[in-house]
Amino acid sequence: MRIAELRLHPVAVADPPLRSSYGRHAPYALRTIVEIRTADGITGISETYGGDGPLAALEALRPEILGRDPFQLAGLWRKLKAEAPEGDRSQTRLVPGENPLDQHARSFAAIEIACLDAIGKALGRPVCDLLGGRARDEVPFSAYLFYKHAGGGGLGEDAREDKYGECLDPASMVRQARQMVDEYGFREIKLKGGVLEPELEITTIQALREEFGPNYPLRIDPNCAWSVETSVRVGLALKEELAGGGYLEDPTATLEGMAEVRRRLLKHGADIPQASNVAVTAFADVLEAWRLGAVQIVLSDPHYWGGVRAIDQLSRLCELLGLGMSMHSNNHLGVSLMAMAHAAAAAPLLTHACDTHYPWQAAEDEVVVGGRIPIQGGSVRIPDAPGLGVELDYDQLARLGERYRKLPYRKRDDEAEMRLHVDPNWRRLLPRW
Ligand SMILES: [Mg+2]
Repeated sequence: MRIAELRLHPVAVADPPLRSSYGRHAPYALRTIVEIRTADGITGISETYGGDGPLAALEALRPEILGRDPFQLAGLWRKLKAEAPEGDRSQTRLVPGENPLDQHARSFAAIEIACLDAIGKALGRPVCDLLGGRARDEVPFSAYLFYKHAGGGGLGEDAREDKYGECLDPASMVRQARQMVDEYGFREIKLKGGVLEPELEITTIQALREEFGPNYPLRIDPNCAWSVETSVRVGLALKEELAGGGYLEDPTATLEGMAEVRRRLLKHGADIPQASNVAVTAFADVLEAWRLGAVQIVLSDPHYWGGVRAIDQLSRLCELLGLGMSMHSNNHLGVSLMAMAHAAAAAPLLTHACDTHYPWQAAEDEVVVGGRIPIQGGSVRIPDAPGLGVELDYDQLARLGERYRKLPYRKRDDEAEMRLHVDPNWRRLLPRW
């Protein structure tokens, strides 16, 4: 097998005005669909971050990829790793996908997943079988709730239906959660926090607990918007709600900060596990997080941890260290959803339902043949089809590519959106509270 062709398809995907401590989502999220074709006509696909940066990084790898045997991934990783810069990998200040220190892992992941898709197709086996087989047939995902402004994403005549309406208080968040849980059957619930005053976010979690009861584990992720003091205050106020399968995710910046929150909560009898995808973004961080007792659940992500095989390795490392593992998500389409699902299906240890932004994207924006991938009972079922189990819809790809070409921006900038729509002086403050 030899890779004869590499095609990069930048796309723009309508996205509602979701809020986080980073700011506000733009009307379109940017993604890149990667496609390789072997000399004998087998294709392999993957999906990764979008915009000029990720595209240029992949383009630069073209000479490495053309002519390569898709089975020979270790050499590619070794080369990219050797050229990667060293430094503090924390993503505290950066939106996911923008950390220059992770660029090699992101680019490698995009190629690795496309290669495994092609290998799976050549062998007639699903990708999870290439990772050692299934630890589970169905991969659980969580409802991922966001405070949001009115609007369903897209612009002008291309605007999407606003299924959830404006959600900027506890009552509307409960409505959003009910709607999402009813439609997809999710059994765990995550709230993106760091947006409203902490007291209001506490009330939101309490209202969710009241609505769904203790059988729906709850988690909140303010993306480091809180000081250590505020994190401890919120943790104590929610010590019942966030225990029992839930967690506190990146409440404050740095592993040292999180370790301090954990120590102080435990001192007050609040045993709330902490999860991270901001302070822990690479294998080296896992050991430090464990040593400090800062993080109890590592949030993996095949897109920047170095591919789907890295998730298997991370799962084993977490098991060894007595940590939990789940999965982080960004805006994504069905190709990413399937890569995440295959990785999570094969991971020996997966302790919490994975995150997914998938409910926030509309059917009009799906690029896989057959449209939206079903999430039923809160889970994605792993198909027996070879590779990732999805094929590209080239008409859709062309449509989303055309929209990308018309967009004036080539980089995610949630702060700019805040300044444009909410407050001309807005900037991200850490900690804000
Ligand atoms: Mg997070």
